[in-house]
Amino acid sequence: MHALEIKDLSKFYGDSCAVDNLNLTIENGEIFGLLGPNGAGKSTTINAICGINNFQEGDILVYGKSIKKEPVEAKKLIGISPQDYNVDLFLPIKKILMYCGGYYGIPKKERKKRIREILNLLNLSEHANKKFQQLSGGMKRRAMLARALICKPKLLILDEPTAALDVELRYELWEHIKNLNAQGMTIILTSHYIEEIERLCSRVAIINHGKLLFIGHKNTLLEKHKTLEEAFIHYLKKDEH
Ligand code: ADP
Ligand code: MG
Repeated sequence: MHALEIKDLSKFYGDSCAVDNLNLTIENGEIFGLLGPNGAGKSTTINAICGINNFQEGDILVYGKSIKKEPVEAKKLIGISPQDYNVDLFLPIKKILMYCGGYYGIPKKERKKRIREILNLLNLSEHANKKFQQLSGGMKRRAMLARALICKPKLLILDEPTAALDVELRYELWEHIKNLNAQGMTIILTSHYIEEIERLCSRVAIINHGKLLFIGHKNTLLEKHKTLEEAFIHYLKKDEH
């Protein structure tokens, strides 16, 4: 079974089309990269997968569960770290995780255990009682990842997970992402950083103006182009004509 199937997805904001008849399939166990310039429709697609956005056409299946017909079952399988921090800035990380686990109906004792494990995994244990607002940029991103992990997702979705992080912090987060994947988690990553996609992902999709321009293994792109960046620019230029 596919980890994710996006079928004929279209999303409009008023008259403006943000996702235009998108089709893509993601396999269990891969780190899949969704690459596109600002405004390409990456976050709109991600938010549709997570049920944060509605959409007008098509359907999305998460491990065979339709986000339209079986939203509760589908959402239970997904952990999301959104592009923007959508948390109460005045709450300590531990509380944020407790509340989020509560939404998933995880019993209190189990929640506490998971939170201890996740904070430990992401080197956040000593900051557990700090308010989100007090954390550094790298810690904030790790806290968002921690929250995404509370439901033990089969599919982890990271929307621009290293936005505004310096090189060292980016590398640190990449290591966490690789480790989670090595443990069997399927991961979708959106980024406009080509290097990030190149280092982490095997298969990639390039989108622009809500349309799929390429989907396949990054090596397919590298057979025709010197770098992934060159391939990316090639597809964007072709799209403008
Ligand atoms: P990306 O994540 O690739 O940068 P987005 O999905 O955020 O792109 O945006 C895709 C398009 O949809 C852009 O043209 C953007 O301006 C528009 N858009 C995004 N969110 C909204 C919204 N809430 N209302 C209206 N237009 C939106
Ligand atoms: Mg975005």
